Amino acid sequence: MTDVTHGDPNCIFCKIAAGQIPSKKVYQDEQVYAFHDIHPWAPVHFLLIPKLHIPSMAQVGPEHAGLLGHMMALVPRLAAQEGCRPYPEGGFRIVCNTGGDGGQEVHHLHIHVIGGPRPWLKG
Ligand code: 5GP
Ligand code: ZN
Repeated sequence: MTDVTHGDPNCIFCKIAAGQIPSKKVYQDEQVYAFHDIHPWAPVHFLLIPKLHIPSMAQVGPEHAGLLGHMMALVPRLAAQEGCRPYPEGGFRIVCNTGGDGGQEVHHLHIHVIGGPRPWLKG
C-alpha cells in the first residue's frame, strides 16, 4: 500500500476525486471532495475525502491538522445541505473506519457522514 501521495493510480477514491470514475458530487474545493456512498446505510450517506491520497487516519500527523480541521468544519454545512435535520432532534453520525480492525475497506482516508430520519439500514 502506498503512503501519503498526490494521487495513487490504483486508488478508487483518487480516481473519483479526479473525475475518472463517476460519482454523485456533494461538494468540492481545492482540498476535498464529497460524494454519495454507493451503498447508503441511511437516507443521507456521503463520504468526505481529502484530494491528497492519505491511506487512513493512521497516517495522519500534525502536518494534516489544517486539512482535517477543514474537513470537520465542513460537515455541519454539508450534512444540512444533504437533508440531515437540525440538531438536536436530527443530527448525523460521522464514522472514520481505520485499518482492518477498524473495518476499513477503501484505503484512502474518508469520513462517512450518515443521517436522516430513522430507521436506517445499518447503525
Ligand atoms: P470503508 O469500510 O472503507 O469505511 O467504506 C468504504 C465505503 O465506500 C463503503 O461504504 C462503500 O459503499 C463505498 N464505496 C466503495 N466503492 C465506491 C464507489 O466506487 N463509489 C462510491 N460512491 N462509493 C463507494
Ligand atoms: Zn487515494
